[in-house]
Amino acid sequence: MGKFLKHQIKTWGLTELFKGLSVTGKYFFKKKITVRYPEEKTPLSPRFRGHHALRRYENGEERCIACKLCEAVCPANAITIESEECDDGTRRTTQYDIDMFKCIYCGFCEEACPVDAIVETRVFEYEFHERGPHIRTKEDLLAFGDLHEAQIAADRATDAKYR
Ligand code: SF4
Ligand code: SF4
Repeated sequence: MGKFLKHQIKTWGLTELFKGLSVTGKYFFKKKITVRYPEEKTPLSPRFRGHHALRRYENGEERCIACKLCEAVCPANAITIESEECDDGTRRTTQYDIDMFKCIYCGFCEEACPVDAIVETRVFEYEFHERGPHIRTKEDLLAFGDLHEAQIAADRATDAKYR
C-alpha cells in the first residue's frame, strides 16, 4: 500500500480521533485520582518537612540547650540564636528566630539537633502577607510546638526505628 493511500485512510477513517477517544473511554470508568484540595488531602509522610516547631519535655521544660548546632548547619543562614547561662548553670536561648523566607526546608536543623528540640511539622498551610511575621520567634515556635506536640511525638515514634 502506498504512503499516500495509508495517509488517506488514516485521515478519512478518523483513526487518530478514535485512538484518542479510546483513551478517554478507558479512563472514564476508572477510579478518579484527582484530589479536590483543600477539601481532600493526600497522606503525608511522618518525615514531612513543613512549619518548624520548638519542643518541650513533658514537664514543660524547653528541650533546646542552645548548642547552636542547628544554626551552624543551616545552609540558608535562616536561624539566629542568642543564649545565656541560667542561674542553675544550664544554657538557654534568649533569642531563637527562623527566617521563613530564607528557609529551604532541607531538614538539616532537625537532623543536627541532639535533643529533638527543633523539628519540622506536617503543617504546610500557612502564608505571610507582609515582612515581619515571616520571622518566627522562639515564642512562636514554642507555641507551635505545644499546639502540635501530639502529632510531632507520634511522627517521631513512627520514624524512630529508622533513625
Ligand atoms: S530546614 Fe534547612 S534551611 Fe530551614 S532552618 Fe532548617 S536547616 Fe535552615
Ligand atoms: S534547637 Fe537543638 S541544635 Fe538548635 S540550639 Fe537548640 S538544642 Fe541545639
